[in-house]
Amino acid sequence: MKGICILGSTGSIGVSTLDVIARHPEQYSVVALTANNNLDRLFEQCLKHRPVYVVLLDQAKADEFTLKLKSAGLTGIAVLRGAEALEQVASLPEVDSVMAAIVGAAGLLPTLAAAKAGKTVLLANKEALVMSGSLFMQEVTRSGARLLPIDSEHNAIFQCMPANYCAGHAALGVRRILLTASGGPFLNRALSDLHDVTPDQACAHPNWVMGRKISVDSATMMNKGLEVIEACLLFNLPPEQIQVVIHPQSVIHSMVDYVDGSVLAQMGSPDMRIPIAHALAWPQRFDSGAEMLNLFAIGQLNFVAPDFERFPNLRLAYQAVKAGGVMPAVLNAANEAAVAAFLERRLPFTGIPQIIESCMERVSQRPADNIAAVLEADGETRALAESDIKNRG
Ligand code: NDP
Repeated sequence: MKGICILGSTGSIGVSTLDVIARHPEQYSVVALTANNNLDRLFEQCLKHRPVYVVLLDQAKADEFTLKLKSAGLTGIAVLRGAEALEQVASLPEVDSVMAAIVGAAGLLPTLAAAKAGKTVLLANKEALVMSGSLFMQEVTRSGARLLPIDSEHNAIFQCMPANYCAGHAALGVRRILLTASGGPFLNRALSDLHDVTPDQACAHPNWVMGRKISVDSATMMNKGLEVIEACLLFNLPPEQIQVVIHPQSVIHSMVDYVDGSVLAQMGSPDMRIPIAHALAWPQRFDSGAEMLNLFAIGQLNFVAPDFERFPNLRLAYQAVKAGGVMPAVLNAANEAAVAAFLERRLPFTGIPQIIESCMERVSQRPADNIAAVLEADGETRALAESDIKNRG
């Protein structure tokens, strides 16, 4: 029986993780769940999974939740509060695996704490890896942590890598990675219409149901840009060896192209429970609850080269990873600020890449040789992005 901590249990990945775990109660026990705002969902999860700890960021919410548990007679669940408690539960001795599923930079320190403590880190929170880059990978190597990718693309690549492959090491014979992308909801929309698209239209992904931030990232293809950076780090390859391929059906989740001409692909229904179950059961396999792939219903698979004019964020991400230093953290912070402003209707959709590019031009490049430097660049970029957004009116 393995103990699991789910950082961000109330989100889309957190819910899917608990769904898979509920199918295998003999293999996993839930040690800790963490949430931010969604107390109702956290309460339902406590009723069903009986964690030992829950963490909420805010004191008032933690007090409210403690009362709620007490009035339902749910004793034995400790309610912890604050960002440090996230790091604490991610490093508990009774925790074997940590699902890193907080969205955005808020997940960096607890995910890093799990890596430092030598846990099996199931990595969904790509922003944490993009920001901290090689610092994160060094911690994994130093502590002997095991890093298993949850992003469907990276999980697919991991599955197509040689059997003894370990994240962060160069795999022999790999020519390039073919990183697939659906193209999102605006793949075929006239460029002149993009200025006026609404948050709901941007979040209506054709194939996947996800949280709102990653849905907007999919519509701008920043999600793919972050994934290019994530792939460089996880698979120890330069950006020139990561080719993005638009594949609108989202059936092939990515491919590995070997020097002998073999191309290995992983396929499956677009259901995050598949990569989650793969990582939870690894190196074995168990049922995920996902539907069986029906190739006859799918009929055909298409592939298209990405268009950098339609998706400037993809160009900016390649630029950031080639620049190195704090630039990936700058890209990520500017994107988080711009996407939040778009979701709050303070910025048009087409303003997102403009804010990011302007921040990348103005924040000074420097080495990302410690976490303090990364967090400083993150804070500086957010302040700059916010002032740009306000100045646009
Ligand atoms: P959601 O927005 O659905 O969930 C985010 C989770 O993080 C929620 O539990 C939320 O709590 C919590 N949270 C939000 N802000 C904070 C904060 N400041 N401090 C602590 N906790 C916080 O996101 P997703 O599940 O869609 O995505 C999670 C991560 O996984 C992202 O990094 C995303 O890129 C990645 N990912 C997601 C995929 C998907 O299919 N959804 C696919 C591949 C990767 P609450 O809800 O209580 O407010």
